[in-house]
Formats: sequence, C-alpha cells, structure tokens
Amino acid sequence: MKPKKISQLLIGTNNKGKLREIKALLPKKIRIFSTSDFNLKSPKENGNTFKENSLIKAKFFSKKSNKICMSDDSGLEIKLLNNQPGIYSARWGGKKNNFNLAIEKVFKKLNKKVPNWKNKKIKAKFICALTIYWPSGKYKTTIGKIEGRISNIKVGKKGFGYDPIFIPIGSKKTFGQITPKKKYRIDHRYKAFQKIKKFL
Ligand code: IMP
Repeated sequence: MKPKKISQLLIGTNNKGKLREIKALLPKKIRIFSTSDFNLKSPKENGNTFKENSLIKAKFFSKKSNKICMSDDSGLEIKLLNNQPGIYSARWGGKKNNFNLAIEKVFKKLNKKVPNWKNKKIKAKFICALTIYWPSGKYKTTIGKIEGRISNIKVGKKGFGYDPIFIPIGSKKTFGQITPKKKYRIDHRYKAFQKIKKFL
C-alpha cells in the first residue's frame, strides 16, 4: 500500500543549523512546525548509535506534540581518533554547545595522537540518521554519509558545528566556505533525506 501523504510535519530539533537545513529539503506544500511552536526541550540522548538517538528524539517530540515528527541524529567520525567524536559530537561543545570548543578539542586530540597530523590526510566522515515517527507508533529510519578530511585550520564562517574543519572529498573548501545551497545538496543529511522522502 502507498503511504499516505504527509501534510504537516514537526521538525524535531533544537539545533538552528539543522532546522534550517531540514526545512530547505522539505517540499513547500508541507506545513512545518518546529519545537519552539510547542515549547519543547530536547530529550536525553542515551542511545548507543545515531539510529537509536534519532528515534529517541523523533518519538519524544511526536508524543509531546501529537504530530508526525522528523528528527536527525548526526555527527563527525574521525578515523584516527577511533571514530570520535561520533554520537558525542554535540557534547564536545559543552553545555552551551560551543562549536569553537568542540573544534579545539578535535585539534588537541589530534595533536596528542599524531604530533605531525597537519602534514597528513586525516580521514573523516559526517553521518546522519533521520527518523520519521508517526503518532501511531510507526517509524522509519535512514542513514546518510559523506566522506572527507579534516582541515588543519578552521576556515569559513558559513554553516555550523564542525563545518569550518571538514573538507568533503573532491573539494578544496571546507563546509564552512561552501554556500548553504551547495552544502544542502551533497551532505549526509541530504543523502539520508533522499532515502526517506518516499515516506513523506
Ligand atoms: P546531535 O545530532 O543533536 O547530537 O548533534 C550533532 C552534532 O554533530 C552537531 O551539534 C554538530 O556539532 C555536529 N554536526 C552534525 N551535522 C553537522 C553538519 O552538517 N555540519 C557541522 N556539524 C555537524
């Protein structure tokens, strides 16, 4: 049976960068709500994977609002750091979600592990799990990834999070230097969205 078309959707995130990006991906005919429309704080992300955490968020926000909800859980995996920060990407920014602090932590850890890392190619990838959760309890989750490397300096003021230190494969620019329009068409969230959009 073909899934029923969605006419309203809550975007279950309190991260402004993600909200902007997910909004830009959604068809204009869908009426979009955000967590601020319902005054909702985020739940504790106590899952062990991106998939689990995206489900925790989508389920939580859907139950609180009684709306169909789409949430993502995403983060950066750096190969040399045994895939850290991974699901802890946001938490590396501390309580205030300070992205400068998170980037400093990446550089500090790389310095400690391989002192001459700036002369090497530091493989990394962004991962995104997207979940749509229906008030009936049904849900769908997809995963998207983009491979790249870590820049040895922070460059660019566009985007959010680790964007100023991530250079996608085939590019010389960081996500912080690329226009949002371009980033939204190639990144991990876009790839997860391509797989989940048939359920909208
Ligand atoms: P969470 O999914 O709310 O746990 O947060 C994911 C964290 O990963 C964000 O706060 C960012 O630090 C990082 N992150 C996820 N996606 C991106 C992206 O597209 N660009 C830069 N950083 C990202």
